[in-house]
Amino acid sequence: MVPPNNEPKVAFDFRKGDQPQGIDFHTLVTPGKDFIRPPRTRADPLLRVPQGGMIAFHRADFHRVLLNHVSSRCRTFTKKRLVSYQQMDSQSPDSVALHFQDGTSATCDVLIGADGVKSATRRIFVEELASMARAKGCPNDAQKILDLGSPRWSGTLAYRAIIPSQKLRTLLPHHRVLENPVVYFGADSQLTVYPIARGSLINFAAMRARYDREYTYFDQPWVQDVAVEELLNEFDKWEPEAQALFKSIERVNRWAIHTTLPLPSFVSRHVALLGDAAHAMMPYQGAGAGQAIEDAYVLASLLADSRTTLATLDRALHAYDIVRRPFAQRVQDASRENGLLYTLNYPGLTFDRPALPGTPEDAQKLEEISTRIRRNWEWAWTTTVDADLQRALRMLNNPPGRKGWSCSTG
Ligand SMILES: Cc1cc2nc3c(=O)[nH]c(=O)nc-3n(C[C@H](O)[C@H](O)[C@H](O)COP(=O)(O)OP(=O)(O)OC[C@H]3O[C@@H](n4cnc5c(N)ncnc54)[C@H](O)[C@@H]3O)c2cc1C
Repeated sequence: MVPPNNEPKVAFDFRKGDQPQGIDFHTLVTPGKDFIRPPRTRADPLLRVPQGGMIAFHRADFHRVLLNHVSSRCRTFTKKRLVSYQQMDSQSPDSVALHFQDGTSATCDVLIGADGVKSATRRIFVEELASMARAKGCPNDAQKILDLGSPRWSGTLAYRAIIPSQKLRTLLPHHRVLENPVVYFGADSQLTVYPIARGSLINFAAMRARYDREYTYFDQPWVQDVAVEELLNEFDKWEPEAQALFKSIERVNRWAIHTTLPLPSFVSRHVALLGDAAHAMMPYQGAGAGQAIEDAYVLASLLADSRTTLATLDRALHAYDIVRRPFAQRVQDASRENGLLYTLNYPGLTFDRPALPGTPEDAQKLEEISTRIRRNWEWAWTTTVDADLQRALRMLNNPPGRKGWSCSTG
């Protein structure tokens, strides 16, 4: 893990790479650990936001830290696959019955569906919400909610590879990616590349976007090993330094990136969704796992609070939904919008010919793209999950009123 420090950090250099000679156009710098947020109004104080900078860590290390801190009183089962659940009378303990693929069953007071983008929990969850909508006389809403159960293809394929730095160095000794993270922009395509493992390896992801296919269903395996030639063909018009990256790749796999459509709630009685099960997003802000962790932090803190009992469980889950859903869905929207900007698909900011250095119109477009990307990302260093947690905890004493279901359509 690379701990945050107080220095501003270069997040990425931006370069347009889908043309014979690429163009550098921006360096995205994120603030250091203690970011000082400037006042927004005259009455607004300066705000010190701790840990505003980015940190990077390996997923397996994070899993290990969590497992090392699980209380010895908790038993973990990593082989059980949930197939379905049923909610009974929510005032009694063990009101949720769980059914697993191996034929076994169990009961619990609260079910937290953190089972990823293909979530089995979400599939049942939307059926519950839909039957509530039907019971309130909103059949059209019920149908729309049922449509939210399945993940959708984003129209984007991600080619992912790990490149040995030495191989790249042999092909192009001073390749910029050996030192710095770079985002290469291109029409309907994009590369994110950065050194990892103390510079010995390069993490490589190349995106190919078809926005006309967004929100459709993908009828092949989501992850597949493919020949490097497929990547070379897709990116054959790109500049020489991008070609050096492609030629350094030994093995590549192709991921069909899937997302979920926004849910009207993350909570149905004693069942809550979190992470990708609740809000799978495009990877253009590197925020999916972070948002899952923030969900878990807020929900765990609410459930562990001494004011939360079986009798007040609804209140804690409602506070989680009120605080986390709008935030995570905003990050989901911002990640999608960053994708449009990265792949030069944002309305008014497209290119139908190579960008020319020194051309004011092109320079203005590229500057506008950088400004929008930076603005979309500002939440990461101007907000803290702790502020939201405090807001959620206050709701345990003063629960906000709940809106009853009212039909959005006839
Ligand atoms: C190409 C790509 C790049 C990404 N890059 C980043 C990045 O840089 N930074 C970032 O923060 N995020 C990134 N993400 C997103 C990130 O991987 C996800 O948002 C994150 O893994 C979500 O965590 P989760 O715990 O909700 O789901 P998952 O990580 O998918 O975990 C779900 C777990 O539930 C288990 N499970 C599934 N079904 C069942 C069942 N029926 N019963 C029991 N268990 C079940 C699975 O085995 C798994 O262990 C990227 C995603 C992609 C596709």
